[in-house]
Amino acid sequence: MSFDYDLFVIGGGSGGVRAARVAAAEGAKVALAEDSRLGGTCVIRGCVPKKLMVFASEYSGAFEDARAYGWDVQEGDFSWSRFQTKLHAELNRLEGVYRRLLDNSSVQIFDARAKLKDPHTVVLSTGEEKTAKHILIATGGRPVRPPMDGAELGMVSDDIFDLETLPETILIVGGGYIASEFACILNGLGVKVTQYYRGEQILRGFDLEARNLVSDMIKASGVDLQLGNNIATMTAADGGAVHVVATDGSETTFDKVLFATGRSPNTYDLGLEDAGIEMGLKGEVLVDEYSQTNIPSVYAIGDVTDRVQLTPVAIREGMAFVETVFKGNPTPVDHDLIPSAIFTQPEMGTVGLSEEDAAAQEPIEVYATSFKPMNTAFAGRDDKVLMKLVVSKATRVVLGCHIVAPGAGEMIQLAGVAIKMGATKEDFDRVCAVHPTMSEELVTMKAPVRTT
Ligand code: NDP
Repeated sequence: MSFDYDLFVIGGGSGGVRAARVAAAEGAKVALAEDSRLGGTCVIRGCVPKKLMVFASEYSGAFEDARAYGWDVQEGDFSWSRFQTKLHAELNRLEGVYRRLLDNSSVQIFDARAKLKDPHTVVLSTGEEKTAKHILIATGGRPVRPPMDGAELGMVSDDIFDLETLPETILIVGGGYIASEFACILNGLGVKVTQYYRGEQILRGFDLEARNLVSDMIKASGVDLQLGNNIATMTAADGGAVHVVATDGSETTFDKVLFATGRSPNTYDLGLEDAGIEMGLKGEVLVDEYSQTNIPSVYAIGDVTDRVQLTPVAIREGMAFVETVFKGNPTPVDHDLIPSAIFTQPEMGTVGLSEEDAAAQEPIEVYATSFKPMNTAFAGRDDKVLMKLVVSKATRVVLGCHIVAPGAGEMIQLAGVAIKMGATKEDFDRVCAVHPTMSEELVTMKAPVRTT
C-alpha cells in the first residue's frame, strides 16, 4: 500500500518538530500539522518566555545589591509594555527559526488542525485527507482550571504573556513548578503576590529539606505564601477584579487570579477513539517504552503521554522514536535520573531521589550544608542556599543531589552527568574544589548530617 508520507506528525512543539526533522534527515517523507504557532508550549507560552520573565524580574534585587556593592544606581520603574514588545518580537523570531528548520529539512508544514481518521489517515481542518505509514501524536498539554464555580474568572499560565498591564495584586493558586515560579517572577516585577497551596508544603514530590528552604525564601522575598489554604468561592468584583473567599474563611479581592493547578494532555477531539487508540484516565495517550500506542502505526511523545512533562524529555522521546522506526534500532526511552530545575528565586536544581524516597528504599547517609552565600551576604541579604547529597550506605552511590541556590539549574546539569554515570560519594570527594564558589561544598562535605 502506498502512502502520501512516511511520517505525519501532529503537533509542532519541541518533540514533534525534532522528530519530524530527524526523520526527514534519514530520508523519510515527512509532514507536520500545527494549528497554533510552531514552537509549542515551551517556545511560545512556557519555558522560553517564562525564563525571560525570570531574568526581567531579577533586576529589582540586582539594583539593591548593586548599591550595597558601591554603585550609585537608582531603581526606575519597570515597563511591562516595553518588555512585552521585545518578548513577543523574540517569540516571533524563534517561531520563524522553527519554521525555517522544518522547511530546510523538507518537512511539509500544514498550518491546520489534524485529526486521526484511521490508523494511517489524518483529516486536516482544511478538509484535505493525508495518509502516512506512521503517525506521531505530539500535541502536548494545556493548563487546566479546577472544576469550581467561577473558575473562568481566573487566568492560566498561557494568559500571562498577553496581559495588557501587570496587575497590582494577584492570587496564584497551586504549589507546583508553575505557581512557585510565577509567584517569584511577579513578585520581582513589583506585583503584590499571594499564593495559596492546599497542602502542607509546596513542590510536592521533591526533597523536603529543599522544598522547605525554597518556601522560606519565597516568603522572605515578600510573597504571601499561605500553606493549607485554597479558594472556597470566587465571584466577579468591580473593574475585572475577583473576590475570593478562602477555605480558611478569609475574604480578599484580587486584581487577578492565576490557576497553576496542573496540565492535561491535549487529546480532545483528535479522533483517537475513532482510530481505536487507548487512553488513560487523564486522557493521556498510552504508549510502551518505544512510544508506540496499541495501534502499531501510531506513536506518541511528549506531554500528551503524561510521562515526564519536560521539554528535553519530549525531544529525547522524539529522537528515540526516529531511532526505533526509521533507523531500525529499537531504542527505549530512558526516563531514569532526569535532572531538572525549578526557576524560583532562588532556583532549585534536582536529580535523583529525594531523601525521603531514598530512605524508604534503603539505608542512606545524608550530606547537606545550608549557608549564606558570599555574594548576597555581602549585600546584606539573609538569603540561604542548600547543597545536598543523598548517598547509599551499601554502595556509596549518590542517589540524589539537591541544590537550592541562584544558578542551581546550571549546577545540576553538571552534577547530573556524574550521577548518571553512577558516581559514589568518594568520586565526588576526589574532585578538587573550585574556590570560592557555592557548589564547591558538593565536594567538601566530610561527615553525614543524618543516617538512616
Ligand atoms: P504541577 O502538577 O507541578 O502542580 C499543580 C499544583 O496545583 C499542585 O501544587 C497541586 O496540588 C495543585 N492543585 C491541583 N489541583 C488543585 C485544585 N483543584 N485546587 C488547588 N490546587 C490544586 O503542575 P504545574 O501546572 O505547576 O506544572 C505542570 C508541569 O509542567 C510540571 O509537572 C512540570 O513537569 C512542567 N513544568 C516544568 C517547569 C520546569 O522545568 N522548570 C516549569 C513549569 C512547568 P497537590 O500538590 O496537592 O496535588
